[in-house]
Amino acid sequence: MAPTEYAAIVVGASFAGLAVARQLRGRVLLLDRHEVGAVQTSACGTPLWVPRELGVESSVLQVHERLTVRAGRHAITYDLSAVPFCTFDYRAFCQGLLAQSDARFLRTAVSAIEDDRVTTAEGSFRAPVVVDCSGWRGVLVNGATVRPEGGAYTFGLEARTPVRDDGLTFFIDRDVVAQGMGWIFPVGDGSLIGLGSYAGRSKLRPQLERYLKGQGIEPGPYHGTYFPNRLGHATVGRLFAVGDAAGQCLPLTAEGIRPALYFGSECGKIVQRIIDGALTLDAGLASYRALVERYRRAYRMLWWVQYLTVHAPTTLLALITRMAAHRPLHPRWWPRYGGFGRIQPAGAPA
Ligand SMILES: Cc1cc2nc3c(=O)[nH]c(=O)nc-3n(C[C@H](O)[C@H](O)[C@H](O)COP(=O)(O)OP(=O)(O)OC[C@H]3O[C@@H](n4cnc5c(N)ncnc54)[C@H](O)[C@@H]3O)c2cc1C
Repeated sequence: MAPTEYAAIVVGASFAGLAVARQLRGRVLLLDRHEVGAVQTSACGTPLWVPRELGVESSVLQVHERLTVRAGRHAITYDLSAVPFCTFDYRAFCQGLLAQSDARFLRTAVSAIEDDRVTTAEGSFRAPVVVDCSGWRGVLVNGATVRPEGGAYTFGLEARTPVRDDGLTFFIDRDVVAQGMGWIFPVGDGSLIGLGSYAGRSKLRPQLERYLKGQGIEPGPYHGTYFPNRLGHATVGRLFAVGDAAGQCLPLTAEGIRPALYFGSECGKIVQRIIDGALTLDAGLASYRALVERYRRAYRMLWWVQYLTVHAPTTLLALITRMAAHRPLHPRWWPRYGGFGRIQPAGAPA
């Protein structure tokens, strides 16, 4: 049977895929192996302006104006009020974005691409434009070649707990996790408490259990996965890649939601111009590549701070963290960092 034809195919219907799809009009196919919003892997912390600007503010569970960083015995509190953060409900957020899209959604696992033909468990589909938003594995851009152990991927594991708090916390404690950090992200009726290994060590469950037990906290269900900590390729051959599939998760802070939404939005606008005949595929690929390249230096800088976090003595880290929390540094960098990735309305220059 001849494969069904579409104007564009988007693989993966989480942050990146939904951000692309909501920009597209025409015959668009959105594929994911799970129902949209069904499988949460993230603590879902992001600036409050993100769900607001995307029209999914009802997904917000808790707003945070304070972040505490604990480095060894030192605790440093950041005032986030210039750009408050929030934690949100993954399912509500994703379903809200899906409702803004005209794409046909199909639940199926994607296995390969050859030329313009995408192979899935439900048969093959063809499109001149294909966007890989399938997360860290990058099922189309990487094929079967991805190896998460090489240091380019962080592993994160977290547990739902009943702990209630009124601010976000990161902690650097090398007895708990040697090359990484931990976090406590309150989500209204409890908190997600997790550990991340920048070295990509995936066996974090015993450490997390020990940590929670030591704090007298009863863990609920666990979830976790890898996410990249190095910017990868924005395009591979004729494929666009967005979000974790393109290594766009920020190093150090492990914020991957904003980049996936921002680059997804911009990629979606470019793809729409290709669908409309205003851009060739090659010109569209080049334009998206150039956009992502503009951020490579910033990613490299964050990667160096991540390196420092792993290797510098805790007292030095505490000193740097304290300096960054106060004037004159804090008002300079926090609004800039917190404003990264503001989603421009369709038609605005990239
Ligand atoms: C424990 C943990 C906590 C985190 N906390 C935060 C946080 O608080 N804030 C933040 O900004 N970032 C956080 N991150 C990082 C963030 O979750 C990711 O960077 C983000 O999810 C990337 O979005 P994405 O759309 O690129 O990929 P994903 O969210 O991974 O989505 C990929 C989608 O592709 C689908 N898919 C995969 N393979 C196939 C296939 N073969 N066929 C069909 N569909 C497929 C998947 O089902 C999924 O829906 C965290 C990560 C972890 C692991």
